[in-house]
Amino acid sequence: MSKRDSGKHVVIVGAGPGGLTAGMLLAHRGVRVTIVEKDSRVGGRNAELKLGDYSFDTGPTFLHQKFVLDEMFRETGRDSSDYLDFVNLDPMTQLTWGDTSLRTTSDREKMAKEVERVFPGSRAGFERFMDDHATKFRRIYPCLLKPYQSLSSYFSPSLLKAFPYVATKNSVIDVLANYFDDERLRLAFTFQAKYLGMSPWQCPALFSILAFTEYRYGVYHTQGGLCKISEAMAKVIEEEGGDIRLDTEVDEILSMGSRLTGVKLTTGEIINADSVIVNADFAKAMTSLFNGSSVPEQKMRKKKFSCSTFMLYLGVDKEYADEPHHHVIFADDYAKNVADIQSEKNLSDDMSIYIRNSSVTDPHVAPKGHSALYLLVPTINHRHGMDWDEMKHQYRDKVLERVEQTTGMKDLRDHIVEEKILTPADWASRGVFLGATFNLSHNLGQMLYFRPHNQYQGFKNCYLVGGGTHPGSGLPTIYESARISSNLICDEIGLNYNTVDLASDYLASA
Ligand SMILES: Cc1cc2nc3c(=O)[nH]c(=O)nc-3n(C[C@H](O)[C@H](O)[C@H](O)COP(=O)(O)OP(=O)(O)OC[C@H]3O[C@@H](n4cnc5c(N)ncnc54)[C@H](O)[C@@H]3O)c2cc1C
Repeated sequence: MSKRDSGKHVVIVGAGPGGLTAGMLLAHRGVRVTIVEKDSRVGGRNAELKLGDYSFDTGPTFLHQKFVLDEMFRETGRDSSDYLDFVNLDPMTQLTWGDTSLRTTSDREKMAKEVERVFPGSRAGFERFMDDHATKFRRIYPCLLKPYQSLSSYFSPSLLKAFPYVATKNSVIDVLANYFDDERLRLAFTFQAKYLGMSPWQCPALFSILAFTEYRYGVYHTQGGLCKISEAMAKVIEEEGGDIRLDTEVDEILSMGSRLTGVKLTTGEIINADSVIVNADFAKAMTSLFNGSSVPEQKMRKKKFSCSTFMLYLGVDKEYADEPHHHVIFADDYAKNVADIQSEKNLSDDMSIYIRNSSVTDPHVAPKGHSALYLLVPTINHRHGMDWDEMKHQYRDKVLERVEQTTGMKDLRDHIVEEKILTPADWASRGVFLGATFNLSHNLGQMLYFRPHNQYQGFKNCYLVGGGTHPGSGLPTIYESARISSNLICDEIGLNYNTVDLASDYLASA
């Protein structure tokens, strides 16, 4: 049978990063792919948001471990740089605590000097962190590439090697205490827990590799925004003969016994499939799309979920050339800010704010002389249903006041010409369960075997991709979830495939 004619049809529910990656791989491997997406553009949380002449990323703005994305393109016989214009950011991020700022870089010598300049006496701790974490990353990374369908998978050689790093009750902040005395410097190596929507005080120790990968392999921007990655993947799918149907919402995933048979759209149309991949938000899909077999919402709410984000997207008729591309402003009392978020109830007035001023790097996101500013405030998820309609304008003013006070953008409010606010309630109404923007929490009880499996238990031909399954939230891990699920499908139907491994060279040079 020719590679392009496996005779199998897979329907993918959702064109987020997970669904698109799976679509790209499977279409190339010879599976007939139909992606159904309820929105009018691809990308999900990684889609473009347009306001007049300004363009924003809805969600992801940091691309880490670019080599994982490259592997996905390479498997289809393509080079990602033929589709995307990458910028390796240097400096990567400015981190600010009151009057103190650290500018991070993936140039190790430059970073060591910067750490020493801002926190004298800390260079040795930085060097030790990087050396120790090269080993830690080499041990943990291979564990993220395979599914955990059964408890016996815990006895795999790769996981046994990584076990001391995984099976500990320590948090990332505990790990950092071994390297740095200054609390702020510890935060510079733990704030990446934000990518998982977790507190550094609760995020499992193994995730200290996130800071390592950032400081070792860098953070990338793609010109036009990270949303261009989704658009590039959609192009590959179409080139490979896959079908993406926008403005097409799945109402129900159909089953007969223990097998899924396809999907029913809100229009009543039925699309039959040999397998169904669910990229829609895990908890939302499982509580609403499986008809009689859906998980009761009350049961799902017992799981732990990430924080949410209060977002401001601002079209500004001014350039702020001295403001960095990525800027994280820590709350004056960061521990209290994080505790408020974890409470799922208390809104912090002393908030942390991440500002992305991509216009300093990217001429495509705003007209000349203007800026497209993206402000993200980590905040409580929507478990307790705060009335954001009442609060949001007041909270927006507090956020902007703090930005004006703590950055060089002293006149920001005088220059806003386009504006959009997204609250945790808005995320929830967009189909994100509890508005938990980073999906299920990544505590040890919800990871590896204990995270929803890539081949979803309960149905033989139901597969998950995206932040709600293994390995977890964040672009590289989501791409990996799609490759794991695609491999499982191909194994099931007996379709050969050759995955590409660029990671080994990166790991060897770590
Ligand atoms: C504000 C924010 C900032 C982030 N920043 C970063 C970052 O800097 N770096 C990083 O690596 N990660 C980041 N993330 C995390 C993560 O990478 C993104 O959230 C990512 O987009 C999640 O991808 P996904 O594949 O899980 O699904 P989603 O992006 O959620 O896509 C799911 C798709 O399914 C569709 N869908 C849902 N229900 C149906 C239905 N019934 N029928 C048809 N279609 C349906 C949705 O419309 C959506 O398009 C961020 C997330 C957010 C929200």
